[in-house]
Amino acid sequence: MATTATAAAESAGDGEDGVFFYDVIVVGAGVMGSCAAYYASSSAAAARVLLLERHDLLHHLGSSHGESRAIRATYPQPYYPPMVRLAWRLWVAAERDAGYRVLTPTPHLDMGPRDDAALLAAIENGGAYEAEAEADRALFGVFRVPEGWTAAMTSEFGGVIRATKAVAMFQSLAAKNGAVVRDRTEVVDIAKQGDGSIVVKTSSGEDFHGAKCIITVGAWASKLVKSVVGVDLPVQPLETLLAYWKAKPGREHELTVEAGFPTFGSYANPIVYGTPSMEFPGLIKVAMHGGSPCDPDRRDWRSDNGNLVEPVARWIDEVMPDHVDTAGGPVIRQSCMYSMTPDEDFIIDFVGGGFGKDVVVGAGFSGHGFKMAPAVGRILAEMAMDGEARTAAEASVELRYFRIGRFEGNLMGNLVENKV
Ligand SMILES: Cc1cc2nc3c(=O)[nH]c(=O)nc-3n(C[C@H](O)[C@H](O)[C@H](O)COP(=O)(O)OP(=O)(O)OC[C@H]3O[C@@H](n4cnc5c(N)ncnc54)[C@H](O)[C@@H]3O)c2cc1C
Repeated sequence: MATTATAAAESAGDGEDGVFFYDVIVVGAGVMGSCAAYYASSSAAAARVLLLERHDLLHHLGSSHGESRAIRATYPQPYYPPMVRLAWRLWVAAERDAGYRVLTPTPHLDMGPRDDAALLAAIENGGAYEAEAEADRALFGVFRVPEGWTAAMTSEFGGVIRATKAVAMFQSLAAKNGAVVRDRTEVVDIAKQGDGSIVVKTSSGEDFHGAKCIITVGAWASKLVKSVVGVDLPVQPLETLLAYWKAKPGREHELTVEAGFPTFGSYANPIVYGTPSMEFPGLIKVAMHGGSPCDPDRRDWRSDNGNLVEPVARWIDEVMPDHVDTAGGPVIRQSCMYSMTPDEDFIIDFVGGGFGKDVVVGAGFSGHGFKMAPAVGRILAEMAMDGEARTAAEASVELRYFRIGRFEGNLMGNLVENKV
């Protein structure tokens, strides 16, 4: 990344009046902000980076906490696989930098009705193959794929990421690069000064000065961006649920990574996903994509538990009946938030208003962003520091699908263009 060109950036460090200038201030230390802070602080320009988090680091009140997230390249939209491939490369490089692993490769299995257009597109875009080979049939000793459905396997770009451990990894890598990481610091305003620099104000009355700002506040994005820029980001927080179920006695090993068990997604209604038994021996995560609208500052914590559990239990009883016990419901339930856009595509863009190219936002990750966080963080860092994301262009990641402008006069965003 090139050195930022503004007057404020040139004076990064202690100014004559004793004010400390950062090159980049990142607001929100979930997985996206932690990755952005890491890539900004690893730049050749040795940028001075500040990462601000409203709650305690690694808290459970947002979207990035927990034991696991799945990574896969099977997406109905052709613009995600290049970002997944870029992210995979960056996950591996960050692990090398940290000296430990957060990503465990596994096969990935998608299944659903044979005529489901989204499933068929995902199979094609992700390079999966319909499972017929002898070795794959073994998996179907676990999954009873319903009549009229198909199932497709891939052994590329599939795996399980240890979520909280990964966020902690990027925060410590950023700190190792010299980034300042501050938690319990709520940002209430971001403003442009007369000299073109940015001032970030906190609820405790502190001001932080910088050249550029990256907003990665998850489910709080529409609130903060509206109050700072006056722009309406169509990001709807949903309260959702992670559920772990008990393996049936004697079946525990068959559901493990060691036994070759895959991460999986089921395209029928409800959309169900799961990861191999790994983080809690004898338990497997099987959950449903969806949730109920919420105010991130007034969570219900119990909302829709039934609606997010019973359809999953029915799915398990139909598709994995011999291996997973649904009697009594899930044994671990963990609440979490999605940040949904109308088309479920990300928002990665300059916020606009009077900020020009000085303030970037990454938001609306719609329940599927974790796997791509290193790519998103690097793109946000480059956009903030250089005004453009060279890495995205090099990796054939098409950022036009993630612009805020797609919603202008068209609340459906990319859904108008995508046929699946
Ligand atoms: C149940 C569940 C399962 C999922 N499964 C997958 C999966 O398998 N694969 C996948 O790829 N993705 C998955 N996702 C999605 C993924 O976890 C999210 O897309 C990702 O974590 C979003 O990260 P974020 O940094 O945008 O948000 P967050 O993690 O919420 O981070 C935002 C941070 O900003 C802070 N903040 C807010 N306001 C302020 C402020 N004013 N000042 C300072 N800080 C502030 C918040 O406290 C928070 O820490 C899942 C999500 C959930 C909830």
